[in-house]
Amino acid sequence: MVIGAGDSGFEESLHLMKFATGVTIVARSDEIKASQILQDKVAEKAPMRVVTNRAVEELLVEDGALAGVRLKDRASGEVETHTPDGVFVFIGLRPNAGFLPEEVVTDARGFVRTDDTFATSMTGLYSAGDVRVGSTKQAVAAAGEGTGAAIAIRRYLQSIGEAYPTDHLGSDD
Ligand SMILES: Cc1cc2nc3c(=O)[nH]c(=O)nc-3n(C[C@H](O)[C@H](O)[C@H](O)COP(=O)(O)OP(=O)(O)OC[C@H]3O[C@@H](n4cnc5c(N)ncnc54)[C@H](O)[C@@H]3O)c2cc1C
Repeated sequence: MVIGAGDSGFEESLHLMKFATGVTIVARSDEIKASQILQDKVAEKAPMRVVTNRAVEELLVEDGALAGVRLKDRASGEVETHTPDGVFVFIGLRPNAGFLPEEVVTDARGFVRTDDTFATSMTGLYSAGDVRVGSTKQAVAAAGEGTGAAIAIRRYLQSIGEAYPTDHLGSDD
């Protein structure tokens, strides 16, 4: 059983199907967040199924091992018990930004706030990609943001007169 119906949950489910006889993906709401291409792949691969609108109530444990999963149907309130061989949890991302000093402003979840030049609240510190507030959490966007940040950093270094070799970055005109 995979808990979480985003890209990570769907990708992991497809991977698990190489070893499992079946995989159930549990979605908390009616909305599946995974990309359509992953949904199509899962739909093609029996026996994989997606159950929607279910909240995990409890993981049942016996003798230190997983014995069952209680899922609550969020529409009817009915609770059902499943007995999968294993549970894999893919719900949400936590930004790996704990090492940053307190001065660096983040949102309540720890994502780093920047302005539109990717500058953080700390002079000389820039942030790009998934860790940034407002990032679209896509690889191509992260790469683009990295480029934007590199250009902004070059401007910053030029502004403070830092003798940093920037010729290889080309022109940003
Ligand atoms: C299952 C899944 C499927 C996806 N599918 C797609 C897709 O189809 N298309 C798409 O565009 N995007 C997809 N994405 C999203 C894409 O992977 C991310 O948007 C992208 O990788 C973000 O790049 P990033 O550089 O911001 O972060 P990351 O790729 O996470 O890179 C961060 C790097 O920082 C390193 N790091 C962390 N902490 C430290 C530290 N303290 N010191 C030094 N280094 C550190 C990490 O080791 C890592 O190498 C998918 C993501 C997942 C999880």
